[in-house]
Amino acid sequence: MLKKLLPVIEHALKKPIWDCRMCGQCVLHSTGMTCPMTCPKTLRNGPCGGVREDGNCEVKPEMPCIWVKAYDRTISLPLPKVWKEHYNELRPPVDMQLQGTSSWINLVTKRDQQTPVGWAAPDGKH
Ligand code: SF4
Repeated sequence: MLKKLLPVIEHALKKPIWDCRMCGQCVLHSTGMTCPMTCPKTLRNGPCGGVREDGNCEVKPEMPCIWVKAYDRTISLPLPKVWKEHYNELRPPVDMQLQGTSSWINLVTKRDQQTPVGWAAPDGKH
């Protein structure tokens, strides 16, 4: 019951604020409270290199680059220092098997810390 209800509640709360796409492994605290899944390329580790001179996206020219926003917010928002430091950490690839599930449940069960076989961050944190 809770497993079905929580994703609905989570989406209802996070969609209006962050345009949450329910990836099931929330990294808002690492990205200046900016959802990286709204990047058309769904990148998790910073800009693709195609950022336009005006700071907008190469795929959607009318849209500001999510990662430019994420960086600016990481600097300007009054976030905890440890969250600001998370910005520079290497995040694992998105686990598409978690799509649609509650990141809150996955945080508690630590399912969101499981990474693909063969993938490891250089710092050994994942
Ligand atoms: S990182 Fe995932 S769970 Fe967090 S707001 Fe974005 S889509 Fe939603």
